[in-house]
Amino acid sequence: MFRDQTAVITGSTSGIGLGIAEAFAAAGCRTVINGIATPDEADALSRRLQQQYRAEVFYHPADLTDPEQCAGLIRDTEERFERVDVLVNNAGIQYVAATEQFPVERWNAIIAINLSAAFHTIRAVLPGMQRRNEGRIVNIASVHGLVASVNKAAYVAAKHGLMGLTKVVALENASRKITCNAICPGFVMTPLVEKQIDARAAERGASKEEAARQLLEEKEPSGRFTSIEDIAAMALFLCSSAASNITGASLPLDGGWTAQ
Ligand code: NAD
Repeated sequence: MFRDQTAVITGSTSGIGLGIAEAFAAAGCRTVINGIATPDEADALSRRLQQQYRAEVFYHPADLTDPEQCAGLIRDTEERFERVDVLVNNAGIQYVAATEQFPVERWNAIIAINLSAAFHTIRAVLPGMQRRNEGRIVNIASVHGLVASVNKAAYVAAKHGLMGLTKVVALENASRKITCNAICPGFVMTPLVEKQIDARAAERGASKEEAARQLLEEKEPSGRFTSIEDIAAMALFLCSSAASNITGASLPLDGGWTAQ
């Protein structure tokens, strides 16, 4: 389905982004991965994906806190492969603190990576997609793009902003064969959530398993983490022909969290 296509997936050296990159590589897509990694780690990861999926996989080191590097990620990919067919804005970070104690530097970093980076990559990728009248943009938002939780001011603000950006880009391109959608996962067991579980376990003197169970119990009626594979499958579906008329949508994979 994705032969001769190129996908750029931000923040794909770990967690959900890596799972999405693996799914696109497995589907035969030329895949550009990105994220924080040493040159050796980046080399080893691209080599593993190339061998495992027999796909072309390249690492780009763009630091997404820098608007110029966000644009550079798209520009360099287009120079090398002529086009970007799929853009998945996945990179994201978290910090948990009450609003009045929230460090300004963490606010700025979260807004830059979780929201502004998606604007900069989309801004850079749209002209090429519009010229070809074809393209898919998937933003990995969160249930926190739909509802709030305490102590996550920057994350919730950024993810709500990302939902707004998704809708505007969808509307501006609705008459073209370009779609822009958001996936809204609940809790997924990745390094981003593990840090929160570890902090909770330490704070409450609980085991890691007990802290994870409590976290789910508070929010997700299913009592289960959403799997990385399920999110990757949804991203692939949104880029398939079956999803050609789905645009501006937010798709929760949250075990019923936002149904409450
Ligand atoms: P993760 O920490 O495993 O991965 C984050 C990725 O972003 C890594 O590859 C990291 O290198 C990259 N990254 C961080 N800062 C960067 C920067 N300045 N420049 C380039 N890359 C950078 O986290 P994850 O849980 O896989 O999260 C991925 C996305 O999914 C995020 O947007 C997150 O908000 C969202 N999400 C996660 C969960 C969850 O429960 N884990 C739930 C909902 C949404």
